[in-house]
Amino acid sequence: MDDVRNLIIVGSGPAGYTASLYAARANLQPLVIEGATSGGALMTTTDVENFPGFPDGVLGPELMDNMRKQAERFGAEFITDDVTSVDLAGDVKVVRIGDSEYRAKAIILATGSAWRPLSVPGEQELLGHGVSSCATCDGFFFRGQHIVVVGGGDSAMEEATFLTRFAETVTIIHRRDQFRASRIMAERALSNPKIRVMWDTVVTEVIDGGGKVGGLMVRNVKTGEETKLDVTGVFVAIGHDPRSELFRGQVELDGEGYVKVAAPSTRTNLTGVFAAGDVVDHTYRQAITASGTGCAAALDAERYIASLE
Ligand code: FAD
Repeated sequence: MDDVRNLIIVGSGPAGYTASLYAARANLQPLVIEGATSGGALMTTTDVENFPGFPDGVLGPELMDNMRKQAERFGAEFITDDVTSVDLAGDVKVVRIGDSEYRAKAIILATGSAWRPLSVPGEQELLGHGVSSCATCDGFFFRGQHIVVVGGGDSAMEEATFLTRFAETVTIIHRRDQFRASRIMAERALSNPKIRVMWDTVVTEVIDGGGKVGGLMVRNVKTGEETKLDVTGVFVAIGHDPRSELFRGQVELDGEGYVKVAAPSTRTNLTGVFAAGDVVDHTYRQAITASGTGCAAALDAERYIASLE
């Protein structure tokens, strides 16, 4: 058992780094396998204004770099690479990166989730410059502006309704002639005087207006008519995919692929396997909630490891 560590953490977003900080301070010397790039989803954004402790806001990459340093200070170790396979069922958890194998008594899964992109020209280039996947995170930046929400599910309705607090108008663009959202959510959105809907419509391009969103090209799927919308913000709300493929067939997932935990704990169906952050979370998807469950996962893992002694 000499090469068996106490704890491996997979993922380096707020959940993974917070877990690694707590585990390191508990003297568990965790190994964090960060992914091919470190820092998680916030590395792709600029200002984060809702992470407590930063009255003037903080840049996403700076926040993540600080979290990493804080964990490193207490002895967390890092490998910046993607895990390629895992064996989670036995008493010893095995994690592989290609031919290299790492073993531990416990593991925390914190691989996050990815928002589904529209995959149209301009979208990736203008991410963080008018294109967003998170109304809670970025709504505040769109005060008095004309913006669009793309999607037809509950999240799109919720985001559109929330965004009317800031925006002058919110146009929901939906590719069908009715919403998939629950009736109550759809009615709430449709009865809001700031919201209008373009049915049977898809986005074909996000127009670059000099480094920020300068408009949107849309097409009616029934008539084929193309229209340019003069908007300065686009919220993409067509769904999220948890990054749980690696664990499929081992740990129990829900119908949408999120790792199931015995909330409020972070325990999965497998002993010694814990999960935290957006790979578990359908609902909140915030840095602070990911950090919160990362903390809980470290405490759960610490108690589990202590129980083995
Ligand atoms: P993530 O941050 O997604 O991290 C997942 C980690 O898992 C990554 O490090 C990845 O490399 C790793 N990983 C995945 N697969 C593997 C693998 N096979 N092997 C090893 N590692 C792997 N939230 C806010 O609270 N405020 C904001 O202002 C805000 N702005 C945002 C802006 C953008 C553009 C985006 C995309 C999100 C924003 N969010 C914001 C949401 C926030 O980033 C997420 O809720 C949070 O990062 C989730 O943390 P996490 O640790 O669960 O996952």
